[in-house]
Amino acid sequence: MKVFNNILSQKAFAEANRYIPGGVNSPIRAWKQLGASPFFVQKANDAFLWDIDGNKYTDYCLSWGVFILGHRNPKVIKRVKHALKKGTSFGAPTQEETELARLICNRIPSIEKVRLVNSGTEAVMTAIRLARAYTGKNIIVKFDGCYHGHSDALLVNAGSGVGSLPQASSKGIPDDTVRHTISLPFNDVDQITHFFEQQGQNVAAIILEIVPGNMGVIIPQSNFLERIQQLSEQYKCLIIADEVITGFRHRLVTAQQEYAFKTDLTTLGKIIGGGFPIGAVGGRKEIMDLLAPVGPVYQAGTLSGNPIAINAGFATLSLLAQPRILKKIHDNAAYFSKNMSLLADKYQFRFHSSGTMFSIFLTPEKVENFLSVAQISDNLFADFHHQLRDLNVYLAPSKFEANFISLAHNQKILDDTLNKIEYTIKKVYSHGKHN
Ligand SMILES: *Cc1c(COP(=O)(O)O)cnc(C)c1O
Repeated sequence: MKVFNNILSQKAFAEANRYIPGGVNSPIRAWKQLGASPFFVQKANDAFLWDIDGNKYTDYCLSWGVFILGHRNPKVIKRVKHALKKGTSFGAPTQEETELARLICNRIPSIEKVRLVNSGTEAVMTAIRLARAYTGKNIIVKFDGCYHGHSDALLVNAGSGVGSLPQASSKGIPDDTVRHTISLPFNDVDQITHFFEQQGQNVAAIILEIVPGNMGVIIPQSNFLERIQQLSEQYKCLIIADEVITGFRHRLVTAQQEYAFKTDLTTLGKIIGGGFPIGAVGGRKEIMDLLAPVGPVYQAGTLSGNPIAINAGFATLSLLAQPRILKKIHDNAAYFSKNMSLLADKYQFRFHSSGTMFSIFLTPEKVENFLSVAQISDNLFADFHHQLRDLNVYLAPSKFEANFISLAHNQKILDDTLNKIEYTIKKVYSHGKHN
């Protein structure tokens, strides 16, 4: 029996903590929620990740969903190497930016024009600014558990429901800044209807993840999506689809196409940078042309349209446009989902999947919004995650984070994981339930 060793990672974490707050450059990476210290990564390839202690993991986090082709896809790496020879930033336009923009516009019908930025956070900030400028209104309606980046106005965790004042979920954000942000429960038709009856005429936009991936994967109820659509028409507010996770993850490209959901603005990120920092905001021409230098809405970025990110993104999206590759990815995901659903039935837990993203919720109860995910045992999840890690399977390190399947996750790799998940569920979950 293998003895699990992470001594080098522990040392690296202690050293990192001397110079970096919490030892990490994004909080979730510290594994605080698992009550463990994180592994430090040595390298990654295809479906696998190696830590600096030499442990090899099958990776289902995939840099939070970025690597739909697996790590270090040879075609992406080749194009990046080629781009590196020409220079790494120019601060002036390149033809490659147009190529990537054209590809995005061609594949997502609601996007007539698109601006490329450096992160999903930036893309959402610009989408909000555009929506307010276009409608002349201020209120933004979001949903509890949907994450739209870390900008002040969107870090709101209402949870408190209609009527109560919005509260920021971070210190350092003035109440005034979130005064116009309202957060409502996802999948709750009554609450959003009620809110619009009171204040609908002041709403600039409803922003949502059509299939949320930031409270685990939650499946949208069709009457909920229909009501959003209806309210936006009735009250003339925009719909911003935050597809930073879901964009290019579905067989029909985006969640809005998969669910036939009409949107005005769309934000993208993650997959479209092929492993480099990127974001994008796109939508109808008349809204997008409000952006400077054409219109009065300001937005800019020193490294926006960065040639390395653009080339990696273009290579990734070009591969995803090939039917054979797309089929392979979705066959992988379907194979995994089919078998996980059988396990979920057998052991009475919840398995959600959409496109190539999935969540395992260790509860027999229905899971349909942030509150129901919050109620799932954290200890049980930590135990499950830890035991799987010991078996060299790395799931996203929080019950609120989605997992992902890539082109590189072939049937053999998935079978191995399925066996290990069943073994671990038997050990951890039935134990957890009966005690
Ligand atoms: C990741 C994410 C963001 C933020 O993107 P960053 O590139 O991390 O700034 C915004 N919205 C959604 C839905 C995301 O998943």
